[in-house]
Amino acid sequence: MQIEALKDLLAQPKYIVITSHRNPDGDAIGSSLGLYHYLKKGGHHVQVMFPSEFPDFVAFLPDAETIKIHDDDPDGCNLLLEAADIIFCLDYNALHRVDTMGEVIAAQDCTKVLIDHHLEPEAFADFTLSETTASSTSELIYDFVKLMGDEDKLDATIGECLFTGILTDTGSFKYSTSAKLFRTVAELTDLGVDNYTLQDKIFNSLEEKNLRLLGHCLYNRMEILDDYKTGIITLSKKDYEYFDIQRGDTEGIVNYLLKLKNVKCAAFIKQQPNVVKISLRSKGDFSVQEIAQKYFKGGGHRNASGGHTFKGLRKTVEILKEVLPEYKEELNKE
Ligand code: 5GP
Ligand code: MN
Repeated sequence: MQIEALKDLLAQPKYIVITSHRNPDGDAIGSSLGLYHYLKKGGHHVQVMFPSEFPDFVAFLPDAETIKIHDDDPDGCNLLLEAADIIFCLDYNALHRVDTMGEVIAAQDCTKVLIDHHLEPEAFADFTLSETTASSTSELIYDFVKLMGDEDKLDATIGECLFTGILTDTGSFKYSTSAKLFRTVAELTDLGVDNYTLQDKIFNSLEEKNLRLLGHCLYNRMEILDDYKTGIITLSKKDYEYFDIQRGDTEGIVNYLLKLKNVKCAAFIKQQPNVVKISLRSKGDFSVQEIAQKYFKGGGHRNASGGHTFKGLRKTVEILKEVLPEYKEELNKE
């Protein structure tokens, strides 16, 4: 499908569902709500839908309270998906990333639009905007609005959502930046988005327990494997109970490992109720995407990937440690 056909389709009001991935992060929410506010201006009926609940730190975004969670009401959500003329799939590259919601999306013969920046996008959509060098899907939503010839529809509300996704996916302009991204950010600033105010809302909203949890992770749960320039932080089921860890509470902890001069690869391994989740991060040319894909049924980007196992916390740490020798040379390359 070409952009002109999509423009024609969007020329009349449509029923649109915007979906993003499980455990939605700042970019999933920012890109979805940014697109939502843009499409609303075109007179469309728009619903944002995620497989699972989003973290509190993005609840301030305009209309976040209208988002539907598939886990909470699968039947109601499926009806909305079935009624949609267009389904947007944002910030994920394959339908299995959205679990049962993906099966329902696959079963619909409506128009599907994929906008994403992850490696190896699946070809399931009628229209795909995939740019793996983009900082975030939010950056791509900005490009998409321009592609649609609707630059004049951009405003501070849309800007605030997109700026949020850019901030969270780039770690406040540290990762995956480009001259083009900074130009986009400048244009978002022109729309009236204030960088400081937004960063304050997003990043300075922790509760006391979050900071204590971070201290616990760094003091009691961190292991550094000097030979492999790798740092590991683990969180057990007991830690989850003791700190009453909720969605979003562990956000960003993995990045602290990268502050170590001698660490190139960081792993954060969490024992969640039904699954062990692994978050992988790296510096420079070292890619964690292959490790996530080959050994942890996951994927993502070169410097930020994730995956999972059903093998328990200790065994998952063991798997990672068994895998590292394969990458020893690369990790020790200057
Ligand atoms: P996080 O560690 O923050 O959960 O995820 C980091 C990156 O890896 C994100 O871009 C996310 O999309 C990707 N990712 C995380 N978990 C999975 C997974 O289970 N499968 C795939 N394909 N990608 C994942
Ligand atoms: Mn993203």
